[in-house]
Amino acid sequence: MNASFHEIAGAISRANRVVILSHVRPDCDALGSQLALALSLQHLGKEVSAWNEDGLPDSYRFLRKSDLIVRPPVEPQDFEIAIALDTASQQRLGSTRGAIRRAEKWINIDHHASNPGYGDLVHIDTGAPATGQIIYEFLRAENLPLTDEGADALYAAISTDTGSFRYPNTTARTFEIASELIAGGVNAGAISKKLYESYPKRRVQLLGQILPQASFDAGDKVASMALTNETKKRLSIHADDIDGLIDYVRCVDTVIVALFFEELPEGRIRVSMRSKDDRVDVNKICCEFGGGGHPRAAGARIRGNLEEVRSKVLKRVFHEIAESL
Ligand code: 5GP
Ligand code: MN
Repeated sequence: MNASFHEIAGAISRANRVVILSHVRPDCDALGSQLALALSLQHLGKEVSAWNEDGLPDSYRFLRKSDLIVRPPVEPQDFEIAIALDTASQQRLGSTRGAIRRAEKWINIDHHASNPGYGDLVHIDTGAPATGQIIYEFLRAENLPLTDEGADALYAAISTDTGSFRYPNTTARTFEIASELIAGGVNAGAISKKLYESYPKRRVQLLGQILPQASFDAGDKVASMALTNETKKRLSIHADDIDGLIDYVRCVDTVIVALFFEELPEGRIRVSMRSKDDRVDVNKICCEFGGGGHPRAAGARIRGNLEEVRSKVLKRVFHEIAESL
């Protein structure tokens, strides 16, 4: 059973020391949600920390006041309330989890289907296209402040998790919220330019390296790309440069499932999966490999070498396509 916005707001209003967390390798939904909520609670006079294992990626530094989001401290701290946003499992909190010695109450606000509902007050809305949309509804329903910087952050969160309002998770309400944010002063054009037209040159150079080696299998229904540690090192690739590259094979007309395999330094492979058909649930497949996400966008981190993991995961996807279509 979901905790109501009112229960969550009640718990927050009684607290002074609050920490807000989001998932490892954060995307803009995680960071934007975190920033908007942190600024709102700061505005109410609370002592707010906002932590992410990876700190703030360069690509999101354009969001005003985003430097509030930092790596967790080495010395663990105590809080009255800890809030996890957009984080499908406790494990995905990474090193932020260990930096909290004690929190009287854990709040979990998310939109991932695979979220098991950890925490004391849990609000999971799998119908929301972005955690940023849930945060917007929460702030508005509970009459909590939404600062100008927070409004920008929520617009960016919602824009990125809906693929610029294109994916099927986009609802009429999503457009209403975008409209309200723009009417309130958000500059949609300027934010879109920062999000989609301000990549570092090395990202396009990376694409030039990996796209020629993309493979198309199962009658071109399955497309996959891979990135090795060697290429990452050679081109000085940052984690956030890789976000969204999967779309270059997802967008092929025949493709139903797109995959991206990224070698991680510690002997694991990060797998990203996208589905373009409701009959193929990539969250289900990623859960089998210890990951999770949404039916149409999910991921996992799998131990093994690149070729082993790639062939094992592709085999599972081929099987799913053969069974489901
Ligand atoms: P991406 O492929 O963009 O990294 O992630 C797609 C979706 O799957 C996101 O909503 C993300 O939070 C989720 N996801 C990605 N990797 C993992 C993982 O290793 N474990 C879980 N539980 N979810 C993941
Ligand atoms: Mn999200």
